[in-house]
Amino acid sequence: MGERHIAIHPAAPPKPPWGAACNGCGLCCLAEPCPIGRLISLRRRGACRALVWEDGPHGNGQYRCGVLAGRRDRLPRWLRPLGGWLQRRAGRWIAAGAGCDCDMELAD
Ligand code: SF4
Ligand code: SF4
Repeated sequence: MGERHIAIHPAAPPKPPWGAACNGCGLCCLAEPCPIGRLISLRRRGACRALVWEDGPHGNGQYRCGVLAGRRDRLPRWLRPLGGWLQRRAGRWIAAGAGCDCDMELAD
């Protein structure tokens, strides 16, 4: 993949190495939605509509998957009735907790 410009929250943590625990840096979901995110966002590139930023207590913060967090407001209207069903399955579908599977590299 060539060079791309992706807007990232300035307080987001740096992306960890591939395979390390996910720290919510958000890079993967800002670059392109996963299969559920494509359904929600109706696009294959760019930030996922379901991605949410959460401020931390010390000026830090992290990105979270709005589907996993049960944020129906991040879903298109037609999918909101299925929000609970999507939330229960999202962890397995997006392999939450399996470590970072994003091999993109950030330039300075
Ligand atoms: S999977 Fe990796 S790139 Fe995606 S939010 Fe987690 S740490 Fe960041
Ligand atoms: S993990 Fe969640 S926020 Fe990230 S692309 Fe998939 S649906 Fe969107």
